[in-house]
Amino acid sequence: MYEKSVGERLIGHDAVLKHIRSAISAGRVSHAYLVEGAEGAGKRTLAGQFAMALLCKAPENGEPCGRCDSCRVFLSGNHPDMHYIQPGEKGTLPVQRIREELVQDIEILPYYAGRKVYIVEQAHLMNAQAQNALLKTIEEPPAYGVILLLAENVQNFLPTVRSRCVLLRLLPLPEETVRRVLVERYGIGDAVARSCAALSSGAVGQALRMARSEEFIRLRERWMEWLSGLARLDTWEVLARSAALEEDKDSIQEVLRMMQVWFRDLIVLRETGSLAGCVCQDLGDQLESSANLYEMPALYQKIDILEDAKKKLLHNVNFGLWSDWLLIGLSRRKTLDK
Ligand SMILES: [Zn+2]
Repeated sequence: MYEKSVGERLIGHDAVLKHIRSAISAGRVSHAYLVEGAEGAGKRTLAGQFAMALLCKAPENGEPCGRCDSCRVFLSGNHPDMHYIQPGEKGTLPVQRIREELVQDIEILPYYAGRKVYIVEQAHLMNAQAQNALLKTIEEPPAYGVILLLAENVQNFLPTVRSRCVLLRLLPLPEETVRRVLVERYGIGDAVARSCAALSSGAVGQALRMARSEEFIRLRERWMEWLSGLARLDTWEVLARSAALEEDKDSIQEVLRMMQVWFRDLIVLRETGSLAGCVCQDLGDQLESSANLYEMPALYQKIDILEDAKKKLLHNVNFGLWSDWLLIGLSRRKTLDK
């Protein structure tokens, strides 16, 4: 069944939705849009809804009617005037494909609706050559053509491309909003929802993917258990964990965020004397038994260490040395002289 109000799926993005609805209602649609947002922020949901409304024969208040021929064909996934362009297996969008699937294809008149819509996923993967190939089409598109470029960030685009597109940004949502959506809309348990929201960069889709992933739940259990015993380990026991960190290398960003959340919770608990402001409320006992083992300045120093660790990772460090340095730094109960 077609869910008419996409607003329910794109909670927190009212301004962007309003912009789209009024553009459609007023018949003032641009030919090219850049939809920017983190992984899981809802770029595809937004673009899909926009495209469906653009192709709809009788949109209502800027939303697709869900009943006309065009909407029905759209929902079947076979609309002849709807074109998706996705990166290939190698994670690239070569100039050749942009030329064939968009620049040349858009010249052919629409079959069905009065428009033709192109959604380019992960458009930031287009190199300069591919973007230049697209440029002329964006400058002088046929009247019926609308191009939606989806990207995690618009920095990779040539200024010439960026300046000719209307920017629609799906900004990160507050943690509390993400938590609430997971619990109320998707029935995720509060403890998991709270953690996933904290780790999600403010994107519901990302948080939901974590919450539904067995692997993620296990990763969290493993690392939270280790963190809760950390202050009682000696140096050799701490270093013994380095190999496990290497095994979780593919999820290293999540692990680092978990560590940040853990130490942030310890600080909140110490400062307020209550678990109420903590993310990991389900680990209340572990937090309480760890919080007093560290000197307060040492807890604040963990946050800096984790920020440093992220920066170091960007610079091709030796992973083994990096993880030894990180784990030792995190295990100190007292501050380290820098
Ligand atoms: Zn319709």
